This record gives sequence, C-alpha cells and structure tokens, in this order.
Amino acid sequence: MAAKLFLASSNPGKLAEFRVLAKDSQILLGLDLLPGFDSLPAFEESAPTFAENSAGKALYYSQLTHEAVIADDSGLVVPSLDGRPGVQSARYAGPDATSAQRIEKLLGEMAGKNADERAAHFVCALSVVKQNRALIVITARADGEILQSQRGEGGFGYDPVFYFPPLRKTFAELTPGEKNQYSHRGKAFRRLLSVLPDVL
Ligand code: IMP
Repeated sequence: MAAKLFLASSNPGKLAEFRVLAKDSQILLGLDLLPGFDSLPAFEESAPTFAENSAGKALYYSQLTHEAVIADDSGLVVPSLDGRPGVQSARYAGPDATSAQRIEKLLGEMAGKNADERAAHFVCALSVVKQNRALIVITARADGEILQSQRGEGGFGYDPVFYFPPLRKTFAELTPGEKNQYSHRGKAFRRLLSVLPDVL
C-alpha cells in the first residue's frame, strides 16, 4: 500500500526522524513537510493533554491541503511533580530557554525525591486528519526514572536524565536504533502505521 502524509511542522529534523521510523514499514509512505506550514499563525498547543494538542494541530493545519496531515505532541511527565513538565515540556523553563536550562530546572524540582518519586514517562501523541476529519489519534509512552545527574551525549531534550531500566542506560546513551525501538515516538509511529491502511 502507498500512502501520502504531510507532517505539520517546518522542522526537517523531525521529518528525518519520522522517515527513519517509516523505513521498515510495509507501507510505502510518502512523508513530506506540509507546504505553507509557516504561512499560518502557529497553532497554540494550550490544551491539557498531548492527544488534544496533536489532534488540534492536525485539524488546524489540514486547512492547507486535501491530503492527510500528521501532527505530533510529546513531552516528559513526572507524576511526583503533578505531571510536570508535561504538555509544557518545551516551554518548562521559559519560551527561550535551552535544553540545559530545562534539565537544570527539572533536577532542581526533583531534589530530595526518593526512588519511587523519580518515576517518569515520555509521552508521544500522533494524530492524522484528512479534509477536516480526525482519522487517527494515538498515544504511546516510554517508562523510566529521572536521574540525579546527566549521563550520555546522544539524543536531545531531557534524554540525558531519563534512565531506561530495561537497557540500564539513559535515553542519551542509546543508539538511534535503540531509541527508535523503545521510545514513545517510535512506538506511537509504528502503531499509527499499522492502522493507517484501514483508515486512509
Ligand atoms: P513538542 O515539539 O511540542 O512535541 O515538544 C516536545 C518537548 O518535549 C521537547 O522540546 C523536549 O523537551 C521534550 N521531549 C519530547 N520527546 C523527547 C525525547 O524523546 N527525548 C527528550 N526530550 C523529549
């Protein structure tokens, strides 16, 4: 089966990551950045859940095309911090903060937490909308723990403090292949690909 999807993003890095995930699928997926993405005012990801944000974003940007549009929202959830950084993960330390500043804020909030309170999970929500109809909304998570200090050089964002017990490594210590296999994004995208032929 062949399918065409436009990614609601202007980020070529995100496109490359999803293309790698699509590579092993049975579906011949034509995945490209959505033309005209920057011509609309940016969608405000202000809903309380990742699923609502990704579905809202896909619906909003689907006004630009008759083809199917895919949008994502993701972040880190720490239950002992009442779910923070959560849907605010990208803006947790202010709109212009760096990943290093977000990690510093997180480690500050985690100071004094015991082992149970260090449980955390990444969440990824993916939505596909075609011609104003939501066809798929999927969320997946990867479970781990927040370390007291950083480990590893790979990945991005909160990866150096997210310890993944099954591999005894932080996400920043995984190879890209390992991260795709176990990450919230990899899991969500594979599930999305498995249901795509039924809905497109
Ligand atoms: P989004 O672009 O609105 O989905 O923002 C996601 C934010 O969550 C990023 O800026 C990261 O801070 C964080 N995040 C999401 N996925 C990951 C991951 O796989 N590793 C590390 N941080 C992540």
